Amino acid sequence: MLGGRSHALVRLHNRGIVLQAILQHGRLSRRDLCGLSSLSPAPVTNIVRELIDSSLLYEIGTRDSATLGKVGRRQVLLELNPMGAYVVAVHLGVQRQVVALADLRANVFARWSQSLASGTSRQAAAQEACEAARRLVQERGPVGSRCVGIGVGVVGAVDPDSGVSEPDPQLGGESIPIGHMFEQALGLPTFVENNVRAMALGETWFGHGRNIDNLLLVYVSSVVGCGIVTDRRLYRGNHYGAGKLGHVIVEESGPRCSCGNRGCLEAIAALPAISAAGREASVQHEETLLHQLAPAGVDFISYSTVFEAAALGDRTAIRIVDRVADRLALAIWNLSRVLDPDLVVLALSSFADRDRGLIMSKIEEIITTGFLGNAAERPVIVETAIGDDIGLVGAATLALERFFRAPCLVPETALKQPSAALVP
Ligand SMILES: [Zn+2]
Repeated sequence: MLGGRSHALVRLHNRGIVLQAILQHGRLSRRDLCGLSSLSPAPVTNIVRELIDSSLLYEIGTRDSATLGKVGRRQVLLELNPMGAYVVAVHLGVQRQVVALADLRANVFARWSQSLASGTSRQAAAQEACEAARRLVQERGPVGSRCVGIGVGVVGAVDPDSGVSEPDPQLGGESIPIGHMFEQALGLPTFVENNVRAMALGETWFGHGRNIDNLLLVYVSSVVGCGIVTDRRLYRGNHYGAGKLGHVIVEESGPRCSCGNRGCLEAIAALPAISAAGREASVQHEETLLHQLAPAGVDFISYSTVFEAAALGDRTAIRIVDRVADRLALAIWNLSRVLDPDLVVLALSSFADRDRGLIMSKIEEIITTGFLGNAAERPVIVETAIGDDIGLVGAATLALERFFRAPCLVPETALKQPSAALVP
């Protein structure tokens, strides 16, 4: 027989099932919830009542009688109240950090951001982000709504169990107890994860992954990485190192990578690598348009100069773009053969719309025509449904996932008294 604690856990679990069903399917009746959850009517009624009392659900009219049988009773529809609770989402990047507040659908409704000069102490930057989070909650937290947690997406190696951002061979720095810092500053449960893995979770809950179980998110920006979701859970690997797609070797004698190896995907497809390839090619090819598009000198050739020249038909630039698409397609193909995901989502952050479209179409063409095998097994590739906020949505999802899996209705600990150092 179940003891009191087990009963409480079962109740928490069932409450999560009901809330997740409404998040996923939209407006549902109590009868729909019974059908979707396999819960009997009595517990569903009780759970719905307490969720309404907690302002997490509200009743929104009845289902059109035309859709019911003649003997059917009117079904009251239930909807999620997105502002019934909210989370703090934190993106700690190399050049920029952003802190935001997001509702239960991961919509950002308040934000603060800061550019980071090179050489900035990561610990000092994280402390500033803590203070910004405190101020946002105090000044922009909706009246009558509860903050239920903090999600932090961090570039580089992270131990999600301890919430510690580890020293990174490429980023440098020291171990930073990020989870502890935010919990101390705000008195709220904090969940820390590698930023690209967090993005994959965000896409699973709030993007293309809503109705699938297995998803692969490939992120290309100033770095290249991926997040692997299996059975709607993040795969982290034995040393929390899963997802280093940028350091998969795609050219045996390719350019030297920051990790020390040669021919890593990141050394070819990341934005700084594209800029470097443009500069190198311009030295070798006097006729390239890259010179005209960067009249101030070779040092001013950026990745966008390369894409602009390619769009104008410059053969040197087209070769660079083709190589980027080809190596990305190769890596995606190989990874898809291993993991067999339902969907591959590409997040080409920092690329202009035109350049993103060009890379997407080239990758799709290569995957479709470049590799033999069963067509049905080819990976389905789409662009992220979330857009430029995917880092924040990913961070928000770290906290939202915990809440939706086990929604605690007890108000979270109120903000601790601000220390003198943290008073705005
Ligand atoms: Zn590498």
